[in-house]
Amino acid sequence: MTTLSTNTPTAELQAIDAAHHMHPFTHSAGLAAKGARIITRADGVWLNDSDGNRILDAMAGLWCVNVGYGRNELAEAAARQMRELPYYNTFFQTSHVPAIALAERIAKLAPGDLNHIFYASSGSEANDTNLRLVRTYWAEKGQPQKQWVISRWNAYHGSSVGSGSLGGMKGMHAQGGMPIPGIAFIDQPHWWAEGGDKTPEEFGLERARQLEEKILELGPENVAAFIAEPVQGAGGVIVPPETYWPEIQRIVDHYGILLIADEVICGFGRTGNWFGSQTMGIKPHIMTIAKGLSSGYQPIGGSVLCDEVAEVIGNCEFNHGYTYSGHPVACAVALENLRILEDESIVDRVRTETGPYLKERFETLTDHPLVGEAKIVGMMGSLALTPDKAARAPFASDAGTVGFICRERCFSNNLIMRHVGDRMIISPPLVISKDEIDTLIERAWQSLDEAHAKLKDEGLMQAAPRA
Ligand SMILES: *Cc1c(COP(=O)(O)O)cnc(C)c1O
Repeated sequence: MTTLSTNTPTAELQAIDAAHHMHPFTHSAGLAAKGARIITRADGVWLNDSDGNRILDAMAGLWCVNVGYGRNELAEAAARQMRELPYYNTFFQTSHVPAIALAERIAKLAPGDLNHIFYASSGSEANDTNLRLVRTYWAEKGQPQKQWVISRWNAYHGSSVGSGSLGGMKGMHAQGGMPIPGIAFIDQPHWWAEGGDKTPEEFGLERARQLEEKILELGPENVAAFIAEPVQGAGGVIVPPETYWPEIQRIVDHYGILLIADEVICGFGRTGNWFGSQTMGIKPHIMTIAKGLSSGYQPIGGSVLCDEVAEVIGNCEFNHGYTYSGHPVACAVALENLRILEDESIVDRVRTETGPYLKERFETLTDHPLVGEAKIVGMMGSLALTPDKAARAPFASDAGTVGFICRERCFSNNLIMRHVGDRMIISPPLVISKDEIDTLIERAWQSLDEAHAKLKDEGLMQAAPRA
């Protein structure tokens, strides 16, 4: 067996990767034919690959590297904790300092009386916890028939059987027997694509009222909870109309169902506040957290519960947990990550300085002939690509064809910008500087130009016929 390192030739690494490593959400044979890009190191917002390119990571990894790459303090926190206590569980009436300290810190940062954390190692695990937890909550309150959880089409809540079922990704549901029973879906508040001739405000209200209709259809006595991302991330950074969340809040309050805010992306500064719930003005009973909690340096997530939910669950033995719930190294790194976010006023800067600057620059992309709208909240943004701006028309080609072409142009211009269908999305590290924002926008414009030229060459600038 050869010893591989970052000095091993790229082609050799790619061949071994293709032979033995199955990638998530990937057509493996297709990737094997072209070879994965090998990332070797990173600092700030910059990635290096094995061919010596420096790539601007406008996705912060997978929406998670909020404090940027290469933070020594986080490496030190992990090393310190590994030497002192690398692992211990929290199952059998034991605890440890990192889990205790992080729980206290999260309770302090979280709004209202969201004061209690149940740890997991990922967002998927945390949402699995939430699914069992809300049903257990109602059973403990003597309403065991309150089982239904309502979610939204095109939501992303993770990839395990439970969390993938809570999500509304039809491509995921088509594989492996999802969704499991007891989960119902309403439509998303995606005005640009689905709003037709309505104003965004009318459309936002209409989509929110689908929640009320669904509750009445299932019977309020049978509904446990509604789960949603404050701003949908993986679905394409879909920013709801302003009328949407206040109406959702009114409905969950009126029918007395639990509101789960999936803050896995929105949490820890992404929207310019500590939590997306604050930006959207909502009061969840439970928040799902992961990703930015540790800036991705360690796998950690959790469910943050309000006092009343924690009290009800606390009065039964909740038969649930993970070997790595409250892992001491992950907790120590998360704690240090939160210290950096606070001490360097990173969240405030996103809200008052770099976020507004990114918004101003990002919105100039709507001048590009390919871009129908640019939406951005804090540091998560999206572009709708269209062959006809005035009609808000989708392309005639299969959804994702054009987005993929644009993404490939970005990739070759050393900019990581993802596509979801024919929407381009960004979610850069929160520490991105104004100069780096300028570079991001220049590279995005250049990539859009190249994609536009290619689409014209290939006859792809065609609108789909109106439905
Ligand atoms: C990424 C994500 C998850 C799943 O988190 P994992 O750590 O990948 O399991 C859940 N919810 C949202 C909103 C996410 O973006």
